[in-house]
Amino acid sequence: MAVEIVETESYREDLVSSGLVIKTSELAKVYEMGSEQVHALRGVDLEIHKGEYVAIMGPSGSGKSTLMNLIGCLDSPSSGKYWLAGRLVSELDDDELAYIRNKEIGFVFQTFNLLPRATALVDLTDRMHHKPNELSGGQRQRVAIARALVNSPSIVLADEPTGNLDSRTGEEIMALFANLHREGNTIILVTHENDIAQHAHRVIYIRDGKIASDEAVKK
Ligand code: ADP
Ligand code: MG
Repeated sequence: MAVEIVETESYREDLVSSGLVIKTSELAKVYEMGSEQVHALRGVDLEIHKGEYVAIMGPSGSGKSTLMNLIGCLDSPSSGKYWLAGRLVSELDDDELAYIRNKEIGFVFQTFNLLPRATALVDLTDRMHHKPNELSGGQRQRVAIARALVNSPSIVLADEPTGNLDSRTGEEIMALFANLHREGNTIILVTHENDIAQHAHRVIYIRDGKIASDEAVKK
């Protein structure tokens, strides 16, 4: 009897071997607000290679956080496909998504998201046993970055990581991201500050739930 070969999209080796850590196809998200529908993403086609450093910009409400939530496996798309490290994650249920998220994604949010009771056990030798709420915004963000890297994730996602910091501290945090990138990490960060975006090597503008432009940063 002939062996039937089932074509499967659920794992794509071709993406992995070509170094694509993220691929999305016609990714869309609709939020139901009572009787209203909010089309937050309207078909995003995106490819990001391992080791890239990408900034996502765009006006408020354009869909940046929605895209980050999908990329970060915090939410599922309404339609479209998303492969993360070769795996089709757009079809996964919440438990499977949580498993992939813990394995593949490191998150850095704005400073206030750090759990106040967690002890900051990172490279802050003079403050080794302090709780995060005793740390400055910049120190907290260093803790958040160190924590994001604990599981050696495939990608580091940062949504406005310098949003609550003064510009000097913001630059220090961006120097940390530059180091992570040099060490081979894949970084995707959302920012509305052009200065911050210029640290990345590629800037993607989102407008009305779609990619409006996608350009390399001239260094
Ligand atoms: P950005 O991060 O670029 O400011 P968002 O992705 O947060 O944009 O939002 C995109 C659109 O989706 C906005 O119109 C916003 O109001 C809407 N939106 C975001 N999250 C939700 C939600 N949980 N429920 C309903 N609408 C939402
Ligand atoms: Mg946002």
